[in-house]
Amino acid sequence: MSATEPLVLIVSGPSGSGKSTLVEKILQLPGTMLSVSCTTRQPRKTERDGKWYTFVSEAEFQQMVAAGEFLEYAQVFGKNWYGTPRKWLERAQAGKKDLVLEIDVQGALQAKQKLPGAVAVFVVPPSSEDLERRIRARGQDSEDEIHRRLDRARQEMLNYSSYDFAVINDDLERAGREVQAIALASRCRVARNEERIREILKSFGG
Ligand code: 5GP
Repeated sequence: MSATEPLVLIVSGPSGSGKSTLVEKILQLPGTMLSVSCTTRQPRKTERDGKWYTFVSEAEFQQMVAAGEFLEYAQVFGKNWYGTPRKWLERAQAGKKDLVLEIDVQGALQAKQKLPGAVAVFVVPPSSEDLERRIRARGQDSEDEIHRRLDRARQEMLNYSSYDFAVINDDLERAGREVQAIALASRCRVARNEERIREILKSFGG
């Protein structure tokens, strides 16, 4: 890891755990930017292309896979494909920004392997009942889909120990402060600041 590599913050956790809201909290910090994933899922009514997702066809997605354009990709809920284009890393580097990835657990594990300096945050729902309530409140999933998401949430929770940080999302205000604190603290890691510290040391005579 060096200061020239962008800081990558991976925010992951079960669907309905409130990841997106916490990602928005991180994005309120100056110097951060969102990685916009590609997906083969159909846009929801409230979504427009290019904000949270770039919507692509299955053929386009497979072409991008073949061309090695993704940092990570996964098929989520055994249905749609989602992937993080590598170009966001370059853009973050060029803009000297910290890059925020909101991705599922399979993707988080892949990204962490490829980018060992990335910081992975697991967003934990306070309980299964709470998660179910949130998924139902969104009103966007069929009964079948709700059960699939809850089953999958349990599987995903079993991977918690692969993460660097866990934020239990039982109080949005506190959880929001926690994710911001993780982002700010990660910027202060010694490994990210070595070059600057060495420069400063020179002023002390090396
Ligand atoms: P949704 O369809 O509800 O927007 O997202 C479904 C799941 O896919 C969520 O857990 C979301 O975090 C995840 N996801 C979104 N983008 C990516 C991505 O680029 N890669 C991976 N692996 N998962 C993603």
